[in-house]
Amino acid sequence: MPSPFDYRRRSTVTVRVGNVTIGSEWPIRVQSMTNTDTNDVERSAEQCLRIAQAGGEIVRLTAQGVREAESIGMISNLLRKQGCDVPLVADIHFNPRAALAAAALAEKVRINPGNFVDPARKFNHIDYTPEQYQAELDRIREALLPLIQICRDHNTALRIGVNHGSLSDRIMSRYGNTPAGMAESAMEFLRVLNAEHFTDVVISMKASNVVVMVEAVRRVVRAMDSEGMRFPLHLGVTEAGFGEDGRIKSAVGIGTLLADGLGDTVRVSLSEPPEDEIPVARLLVDYIAGRKNHPEIAGTLCRGYDPLCPPPMRRLSVDGKQTPVVIASATPEEITGSMKPDIYADRLAEIYDQLLVITPDNINIPGSLLAQLHELAESGNTLPVVVKVTYGDTDPQTLQVKAAADLGPVVMSHLCDGIWIEAPDAPAQDTVVQTAFSILQAARVRTTKTEFISCPSCGRTMFDLQKAVKDVQAATAHLTHLRIAVMGCIVNGPGEMADADYGYVGAARNCVSLFRNRECVKMNIPQEQAVDQLVELIKADGQWKQPT
Ligand code: SF4
Repeated sequence: MPSPFDYRRRSTVTVRVGNVTIGSEWPIRVQSMTNTDTNDVERSAEQCLRIAQAGGEIVRLTAQGVREAESIGMISNLLRKQGCDVPLVADIHFNPRAALAAAALAEKVRINPGNFVDPARKFNHIDYTPEQYQAELDRIREALLPLIQICRDHNTALRIGVNHGSLSDRIMSRYGNTPAGMAESAMEFLRVLNAEHFTDVVISMKASNVVVMVEAVRRVVRAMDSEGMRFPLHLGVTEAGFGEDGRIKSAVGIGTLLADGLGDTVRVSLSEPPEDEIPVARLLVDYIAGRKNHPEIAGTLCRGYDPLCPPPMRRLSVDGKQTPVVIASATPEEITGSMKPDIYADRLAEIYDQLLVITPDNINIPGSLLAQLHELAESGNTLPVVVKVTYGDTDPQTLQVKAAADLGPVVMSHLCDGIWIEAPDAPAQDTVVQTAFSILQAARVRTTKTEFISCPSCGRTMFDLQKAVKDVQAATAHLTHLRIAVMGCIVNGPGEMADADYGYVGAARNCVSLFRNRECVKMNIPQEQAVDQLVELIKADGQWKQPT
């Protein structure tokens, strides 16, 4: 595992995806995914073109079956005729035949180890004998061999794309729904590919829970290192949502791993038009790549610290507030929204003797802050420590992405007691305070608002997901104790919304099913009634609160 104080990319092999190369010797690539019906070849090609024109270097399309895989071939032909050579990736779930067809037509095929060979999970616990478990692994090998051969014949790359929400019953039975299970799910497939000397492979470990996603990637890297594998990594936070929350959640997760030197291609998944994802991904990647060759940072991890298993978050009291706190440079008059900072800076002088404020002294902001936090922890410091970073940005989105990428890894280390973002040129100080609270929430150390989990939609979505997200949010944004998911399809949605309390899931054209945890409680409701019925369900469960 690379040093958290030293920004240096992990060394990988190079993987060629059409005319794009992925790996540590190359720039970090940005990509997106269409949300059109893949069989609507013209509309899909138009959307691919828009993504490419926005700067997307790779475009993924869903391929539910062989017909969609063949449509990707037609989309490719249409794009090439228009002079667009962006590589296309077929996204496969549950259908090895679609993967075999796509491998001859697309530049890359993504398969999900949770459902490539294994059937849809039933949440059954199965006790395998070692022989039975080995027989399952043999089945994976048998299914992969023909795919590897077609990929070799057509110079097609593979992505082994693990999702927290779709681990197989086999993996869940042995490892649970855990980052360790995610890592092993990938490793089972990688061992076969490695043994066959097939190295055009990229790996992803995605979750909507940023902490799970970060740990899963760190674990799979540790596992690969121990088995001598150097496959590149695709990073992304699934179902990140939209707007400020989607950007901050993605920047905390992806930014934390990029700061480790991990990640060779990224997708920022937003419930927005796919081309809107590209500038966010580009901003994040360029901002972190700017740390290259930073002045050296002296530091060592404090004794016993393991990034895979950080200590519990510090819970010291700052000015009578439970930490982690949010401090703001703004005055009370400048904060007009409902979200107030815990402490205004002009009050700090009264309590300063109780508080250490540290600031970065290196272009590698998280590296500098983490080095100081580890030194303080090693010295046995018992005073609360707040990290303060100042930004000169005027654009709120730029500020959100930079602050989340810098402070995400710091907060996720669990070694500080609060954050203080200073942005004197920001157009509204409310945004600065909200950004700080959103970073703490994305890092799962403090919850102050409803957490919305929503997928970006894809060719499987049969209703207006972006409108649904906005409608659900308008009705439930005051329920700060809940996690609510809006998912585009019944095939992957229920699994991938992972730890949501309630789910609004597309079931058929313009029809929605409602879930409580993982249980479907209302099926096939017309979309126009679904928000009201969701509210009724939350009320019937005694979870409703009146907006204040
Ligand atoms: S959950 Fe959303 S993004 Fe995932 S497969 Fe279904 S519609 Fe597509």
